[in-house]
Amino acid sequence: MGERYEIVIAGAGPAGAQCARDLAARGYDVLVCETEAEDVFPRTSNKSTAGTFPRMTAAYGVPDDVVMNFTDSVVLESPNDYYKATQPGAVLDFGAFKRWLVAEGRDHGASYQFDARVTKPITEGDEVLGVYINGDEEVYADIVIDATGPAAPLAKALDVVNLRRENHAIGIEYEMENIEVAYDGYADLTDAMMLRLDHDVAPGGYAWIFHTGEDTAKVGLCYIQNARHLDYAQEGRTVDGYLEYWLENDPRLVDAVEIEGRQQHRGSAHIQLPGRMSTDSFMAIGDTVPSVDPVWGEGIHKCMESGRAAAIVADHALTGELDTSAETMALYDDLWHERVAPNVKNRMMLAELLYLASNERYDRFMRDLNRLPKETLSKANAGDRLAMMRLLHLEDAPRLFKFAKERLGLGTGSRFGQPGSPT
Ligand SMILES: Cc1cc2nc3c(=O)[nH]c(=O)nc-3n(C[C@H](O)[C@H](O)[C@H](O)COP(=O)(O)OP(=O)(O)OC[C@H]3O[C@@H](n4cnc5c(N)ncnc54)[C@H](O)[C@@H]3O)c2cc1C
Repeated sequence: MGERYEIVIAGAGPAGAQCARDLAARGYDVLVCETEAEDVFPRTSNKSTAGTFPRMTAAYGVPDDVVMNFTDSVVLESPNDYYKATQPGAVLDFGAFKRWLVAEGRDHGASYQFDARVTKPITEGDEVLGVYINGDEEVYADIVIDATGPAAPLAKALDVVNLRRENHAIGIEYEMENIEVAYDGYADLTDAMMLRLDHDVAPGGYAWIFHTGEDTAKVGLCYIQNARHLDYAQEGRTVDGYLEYWLENDPRLVDAVEIEGRQQHRGSAHIQLPGRMSTDSFMAIGDTVPSVDPVWGEGIHKCMESGRAAAIVADHALTGELDTSAETMALYDDLWHERVAPNVKNRMMLAELLYLASNERYDRFMRDLNRLPKETLSKANAGDRLAMMRLLHLEDAPRLFKFAKERLGLGTGSRFGQPGSPT
């Protein structure tokens, strides 16, 4: 019989480490198992641009020393136009942020085991009793949480999530210097986070420049390798190839070079409606569910919120008479829809419409944003259908039709209506 904890969490990302931090602060005996070695942590999981906003940094007490640059605007760009909005934010050093979360959890009493790859759950009937680490080491717990991001070894084995290949988004990013942040004819990107909608650079996705001070920035792009991507893709060009193409052709980036000693960031996430997220004695959190926002890819805040929601449910289940039944754990699914991603269906619709549009339509989108009341984008972002309608035109009808067809499952490759999905 292996060691026993009240809660065992697989994965020390924003979701798992925040969940452990909350549970340890409430006095629970919690173990986090992280696959990477501590002396290099995080290396392969250091994947995020880590642009975030005060609603996250203030809510979770993120210290200034993990912030690379405080920003004051968000810029949306199309091939020939742009829209700039005032919006305070912060670009974090994702690696430093992850290490800070681990230290915070430990300060509250959480245990961490690095070099500990969680391979599968230990089960008895419907009951989840613990996890296997590195193949044969056993750890037992009243509640088991999968926070491994898209790897999801526990959630997949328990048939709690069904992460689909056609919903798999990939991203790559370099930390660069010698960038022209204020170039004639483009928006001034000083202290800005910029997202570019342009199928030449990121077919079916988007690219970004997040300013990190002086002439430095994080420069990257992402897309889902599905039919949308193939409509615009150049044959044989890889995600690295698209980034190289952008670096060679954008006048702001032609002299840019990677900063020595800073690693390239690569990662992935699934963009799909979540189905079930829990079962007896088990919850799946963060990008295992997945929780990343389908429109702009903001995942850190959402994943931390999902970690917090799981901590609330674990507290409830372990207080008084132990009750880790599927019914009790399902309170987490309710909290996720209420707090982590309200309006997820509308957000998914917005993402579908946005990434189906042409480069010309992106230019028109920028013109509309510059013409409409300032709050239109933030309302549409929050899933407000009226604001979304204001951004639509007659020329969008075929795309809406295509979308409706797919959503109703009449077309091929529908991303909706998967088993257990709340559609
Ligand atoms: C290129 C890119 C850019 C991004 N930019 C932004 C951004 O600017 N702002 C933003 O808010 N979000 C951004 N995101 C999204 C955000 O980074 C993710 O949504 C978030 O990191 C997910 O957190 P998580 O804790 O669910 O999972 P992860 O961050 O994936 O963490 C999972 C952890 O589990 C560990 N692990 C994996 N498998 C196992 C296993 N079997 N056993 C034990 N441990 C395991 C991993 O090593 C890792 O430490 C970006 C993502 C990518 C890929």
